[in-house]
Amino acid sequence: MSKIKILQDEVVRKIAAGEVIIRPVSVVKELIENSLDAQAQKILIELKGGGKDLIKVIDDGEGMSREDVRLAIARHATSKITSVDDLLKIRTYGFRGEALASIAAVSRLKIESNNDERFAGTYIFVEGGEIKEIKEISRARGTTVTVETLFFNLPVRRAFLKSDSYELKLIVELITIFAIAYPQLHFTLISEGKELFTLPKTQSYKDRLKLFLEKSTFNGLLEFAYSNPMFSFWGVISRPEVAKNHFEIQQIYFNLRPVKNRVVTKAIYDGYAGRLMGRNPTFVVFFETNPENLDVNIHPTKTEVRFIDEKFLFDFVSEAIKKTLGITNYREIPESVFYQNLINFEENRQLGFWQLHGTYIFAQIPSGYCIIDQHAASERIIYEEILKKDEPVRTQGLLFPVILELSPDEFVVYEEIKDILKNLGIESKAFGNFSIVIETIPVNSNLSKQDLKELFRELTQSDYKTLTYKEELARRIACKGAIKANQVLTQQEIESLINKLFACNDPYFCPHGRPTIIKISREELERKFGR
Ligand code: ADP
Ligand code: MG
Repeated sequence: MSKIKILQDEVVRKIAAGEVIIRPVSVVKELIENSLDAQAQKILIELKGGGKDLIKVIDDGEGMSREDVRLAIARHATSKITSVDDLLKIRTYGFRGEALASIAAVSRLKIESNNDERFAGTYIFVEGGEIKEIKEISRARGTTVTVETLFFNLPVRRAFLKSDSYELKLIVELITIFAIAYPQLHFTLISEGKELFTLPKTQSYKDRLKLFLEKSTFNGLLEFAYSNPMFSFWGVISRPEVAKNHFEIQQIYFNLRPVKNRVVTKAIYDGYAGRLMGRNPTFVVFFETNPENLDVNIHPTKTEVRFIDEKFLFDFVSEAIKKTLGITNYREIPESVFYQNLINFEENRQLGFWQLHGTYIFAQIPSGYCIIDQHAASERIIYEEILKKDEPVRTQGLLFPVILELSPDEFVVYEEIKDILKNLGIESKAFGNFSIVIETIPVNSNLSKQDLKELFRELTQSDYKTLTYKEELARRIACKGAIKANQVLTQQEIESLINKLFACNDPYFCPHGRPTIIKISREELERKFGR
């Protein structure tokens, strides 16, 4: 008897599946891509347990015949290419014919599909790669793929998946990326029976982007479009002065395929010519090129592509970014503060406001001038808003509720303070294992997901007694939700801040007792200059 044995089919399938299907988000990616390839107009994604227990993708695409459904789950069965040459012309997402087979091998998979409404549709149930049932059903044109208990037959892999909320987060990010590329399609996401979002079709990717980005990030974007004989290149990038330490989205698409591409990312950073000062821009950029210029076959999950002429790609992108930013003299890099102030000065000189270091506001007043600390002022405004005695706090709903994972002990503290938080404008709910969903924030506050994360972490790690004081909670919410230092404000934003500050009961101090305003009189100026 030989020592070496030929692996059985079943084993071979699982090994290959390991490359493509790593976690629930990989399944969702393959299924959405199939729906897009089938020209769907509406895609509904339903999840349970962050996709670990259930992933269902329903589309209204072209559907499959009974024979197709049977073949679809076979390895290397694809309708998208027939020869090696076709690989050079790929416009579809799929081409390997492996995804459904890989998913079928590691889950309980059901497909319901119909490609012609005059006839019955087909239902197939496959468990661990084995067909258990196939029958006629009635179904409108389109396809529903249901994936239950991913890795049910690979318990160790299943155990390595992360928490439901983490897996869900990855899926939400993925859907976001497709939703931006396909504004004309309708996307719905349901998790644990609740709709997390529904995105009706719209005109432009910018409409979608607006939903997914913080307002200040969106407003700080510059739009561009360039082309050359090899490709068109268009999209949006952050103005350098609004780039942050963390970025919200950095996404590259080639022929609407969301990919990572180091050459392009490097070229974009290069294009900022030193103006980023270590921060990171948000960008969403699209390339449209003849598929012959692209190798899409370099990564098992198709998340990378290689462009035929990388040097040209780099140079063109880098130049295009410089042009968009108005950078003409590449060698001379002005000090960023100087650059920023120049812009603000230009913007603010019709009103008499001037923002210094993106942090202090200078405003001329009849008796001299005053300097306002924008963060402290904003804290005071939010603090008074949420502690208003006679009326309930006005709240703003979050279009995309923020999900936070807490540790068990943090969760206990959360349970204790959630009602007080609600009275202060932060409405939230428990959501699965020690996770919570935040649904509203107080009006006037600027709480980003990151701020909310930090706020909750700090709150749940604080001495519990201090948290039962409404004022202490309000102070902390105000601090996180306030306009930050190093945040460039428009003239309208400055004006509105000052108006709101002076509408406060106690405008001169922030909730921690620091001054919000310093006044310098004309006499003092005159004395200093020896006039
Ligand atoms: P690939 O996408 O690489 O061809 P898949 O395993 O993902 O491989 O799918 C196999 C085949 O099943 C596809 O080529 C397509 O013909 C068919 N198919 C899969 N999903 C759908 C869908 N949602 N609508 C219509 N046809 C589909
Ligand atoms: Mg596919």
